[in-house]
Amino acid sequence: MSGLSVRNVTKKVGNKAILKDVSLEVGDGEIMAILGPSGAGKSTLLRIINMLDRPDSGRVLLDGRDIWSGNRLEMQRSMAMVFQKPVAFSWNVYDNVAYGLRLRGVDKAEIDSRIKEALALLDMTGKERQYARSLSGGEAQRLAFARAFVLRPKLLLLDEPTANLDPANVAIMERAIKDINQKYRTTVVLVTHSIYQARRLSTMAAFMMNGEVVESGKDLIGNPSD
Ligand code: ADP
Ligand code: ADP
Repeated sequence: MSGLSVRNVTKKVGNKAILKDVSLEVGDGEIMAILGPSGAGKSTLLRIINMLDRPDSGRVLLDGRDIWSGNRLEMQRSMAMVFQKPVAFSWNVYDNVAYGLRLRGVDKAEIDSRIKEALALLDMTGKERQYARSLSGGEAQRLAFARAFVLRPKLLLLDEPTANLDPANVAIMERAIKDINQKYRTTVVLVTHSIYQARRLSTMAAFMMNGEVVESGKDLIGNPSD
């Protein structure tokens, strides 16, 4: 069983049920768009999949393994997440992208080659020595994406990654998401407010409302040309 499987996940904060019996299947290499109004529970679900939060009941499986059952570090390293607001250290671009790779003990030549690829993909070639804090908002978000991408995660979790970007930056990010999905068969879960973005990128979709998945499947949102 490869891919991501969310099974009967529930989450409460106080007595408020934020996720109610949520189940989803995302096959290997698929791009799943999660749509729904704000407060539906989308971010909470992503945080649970990314092991930033634990469900009260239910399970999350990646390639058939319960994410909480094995080695936590190893499991966390098979995933990467990009948030709506870019996160970066106050270092230069190169060191920001290299950080996760250095932690994993990747050698310098491989780090250089992955960074080169990532920056090219994100139209940031030549920005290696620029300080992260001096980047524009769009570049900062592209940097955040590069940091996730170079880790070559099996599962990439994107929480409204283009919500604050102008159309040119959205186009670069969307192309990057498609490219890595195709090149590395990365499985992607994309939370988005845009049904248009979902149509452009995703191979399947789920709608959430009030902590529940109200509908999911492959033919929910139509094609980019609709
Ligand atoms: P979405 O991403 O779909 O906007 P969230 O997962 O952020 O939804 O939130 C779902 C619901 O859970 C919202 O009503 C939110 O206010 C509530 N919520 C999320 N996290 C917490 C928390 N730590 N404490 C209290 N309420 C929370
Ligand atoms: P800072 O600008 O933060 O002082 P440096 O430019 O001295 O940092 O680089 C810090 C580290 O990042 C060094 O290990 C260096 O090898 C690496 N590095 C920085 N820029 C590049 C680059 N363009 N190509 C390869 N390695 C780089």
